Amino acid sequence: HLRLRYTSGVSTSPAFGLLAYMTTTIFAPILPAELDWQGDIPVARDYDDPYFSRQDGIAESRYVFLNGNRLPERFSTLSSGQLFVVGETGFGTGLNCLLAAQCFLQTAPPQAHLHLVSVEKHPLTLKDMRTALAHWPELASLANALLTEYPPATPGQHRLKLHPRISLTLLYGEAEQCWSLFQHPVDAWFLDGFAPACNPDMWQPALFAQMARLSQPGTTLATFTAAGFVRRGLQEAGFEMKKHKGFGHKRHMLIGEIHHATPDPTPTSAPSVIVVGAGLAGATTAHALAERGCNVTVLDADGIAQHASGNLAGVVYSTPSAHLTPQNRFYQQSYSHALRWLARQAFPRDETDGQLNGVLQHYVDDKQREKLTQAMETGAWPSALLIAQGQHTAELVGGGYLRPARWCQHLLDHDNIRIEQARVIAVHEGKPATATLDNGEDRQADAIVLCTAANTATLPGLQWLPLKLIRGQVSYCQATDASRLWQQAQCHGGYLTPALDDLHCVGATFDLHNESPVASEEDDQANLAQLERYLPRLWLELGGQQINIVDRRVAFRCQSLDFLPLCGPLPVATENPHRPATGLYLNLAHGSRGITGTPLCADLIADLICKHPLPVDQQLVDALAPDRFIVRKRKKQSGWTP
Ligand code: SAM
Repeated sequence: HLRLRYTSGVSTSPAFGLLAYMTTTIFAPILPAELDWQGDIPVARDYDDPYFSRQDGIAESRYVFLNGNRLPERFSTLSSGQLFVVGETGFGTGLNCLLAAQCFLQTAPPQAHLHLVSVEKHPLTLKDMRTALAHWPELASLANALLTEYPPATPGQHRLKLHPRISLTLLYGEAEQCWSLFQHPVDAWFLDGFAPACNPDMWQPALFAQMARLSQPGTTLATFTAAGFVRRGLQEAGFEMKKHKGFGHKRHMLIGEIHHATPDPTPTSAPSVIVVGAGLAGATTAHALAERGCNVTVLDADGIAQHASGNLAGVVYSTPSAHLTPQNRFYQQSYSHALRWLARQAFPRDETDGQLNGVLQHYVDDKQREKLTQAMETGAWPSALLIAQGQHTAELVGGGYLRPARWCQHLLDHDNIRIEQARVIAVHEGKPATATLDNGEDRQADAIVLCTAANTATLPGLQWLPLKLIRGQVSYCQATDASRLWQQAQCHGGYLTPALDDLHCVGATFDLHNESPVASEEDDQANLAQLERYLPRLWLELGGQQINIVDRRVAFRCQSLDFLPLCGPLPVATENPHRPATGLYLNLAHGSRGITGTPLCADLIADLICKHPLPVDQQLVDALAPDRFIVRKRKKQSGWTP
């Protein structure tokens, strides 16, 4: 019955006349598509309409969407390094997107990029997707890339890679509402919901208005329908519409183009970037930028993964909740995003790096049991991500444990990344931006990203950053014959990892009021006591009262006041109103979730710097933006309450 509380993927209630932060967007669980198979053709049960043409799906898609938008010709005239963005309503089986990707690879110059962005309210299950795509052998390699990265059915954005030069961002939810939270201009639209007669809710002026908002002069549109109200609606939104001969026996289809002028964020050649900090945030950010062709210099005073990212093992996990607040959505989205990154990088390479074989979350009390059970029962966390394992445990599917330092090394091993041991003592905005080193040298780049956790607040002018340090001590315990058989990471109040180097991590303490970098016997005992309390059988297998603590490590987690990272442009906090500092960005405050949160934040920073479509919706962009603390302060001062 919990499902009844939700009506659609995303719902917005714009409070007209009030500012953007008054708009509440409620994300809801996603219901997968229910199909009937008529031979090889998938037909949507609720809409009674096929996903592609019964005659020749490929030929019709090419005719209507690719040729209707003149894609072969436009792809072939792209310049090197140029980005082309396709927007689609109704991802369905992905046929249109795969055909566009194939056409791009056949016609575009080698350095150009394609970004496909497609919205879907009811995604096909992975099984149906496999069956549907098996019919197109000529698309096999792109289809395999899609199937490998196919995301779980959770609301919001999902970033996939189909090819080194082709990204796909899937927006799961209601078309108009998803587009209303998207910001990047689109060059060509595939308007492809089911037939307007079967699916009138989608073909609405509000959707057309979003498409027009995201269009720029020269943006084109194609759709298989010639319905008069669709043509008029698109015209009213600002598209110049034309009837065109339809595919096969169909009389007409529609094509359109926009001429109204909107600011054009001209794509530039890949910028040069300095990343300060070589922990998880720095390594993922450097990698994301390097993949986009940027020349990246990583500066770190102490070397790779020396601080909070330097523990022997860390856990890839998340904290599931049925409540799809921005915070919980970030935890969910970053989790599946991190799993895609790891799979793409084939990391862990072998068991000495760790394993992604699921994480067991033991309920520490009834409250946690209820929270996780609700997350599963509402469908907010589908079974592709979270399943119950008996009465006392849930399993985070696909999670696991790994060596963070090796992961960082692996990510930094890239032709476009140079690493230098150097201490940055100040940064200055500008074109280019400048980092001053402790030897007085200045380093310049188009952008500088500070991935320096709480140290960032020691830089001149950045003391205002609201960062907390949370001391954590982890105890390294000698493996026993029994414990060497453990395969999965376990979370309770703390965590326990299978053996690496014949050692288990038992951790970690959580101390807001202790700044001592020195490890203590007392903290080791606290770690063991917690293990004994929540996992008594494993505590015994590890030696019980005779557990041999071989070593221990203290590190400081950096946390923000609202538990979300600070990821986005650094604001100039001294000016009123504040503005983004030219060329300066932050990616920090990942708390105890660094392995999970950093890949998504890295893609966000890299896309902001390279001016590509973003991997998260505007609600999450705002929730992660470092300036949110300034905004809140102002709201508080003016007595504003929601
Ligand atoms: N373009 C797809 C392909 O290449 O396979 C076929 C699209 S299929 C004809 C229409 C798709 O639109 C379905 O997957 C359906 O779930 C989706 N859809 C329908 N109404 C929607 C809405 N209001 N918001 C988002 N997606 C919607």
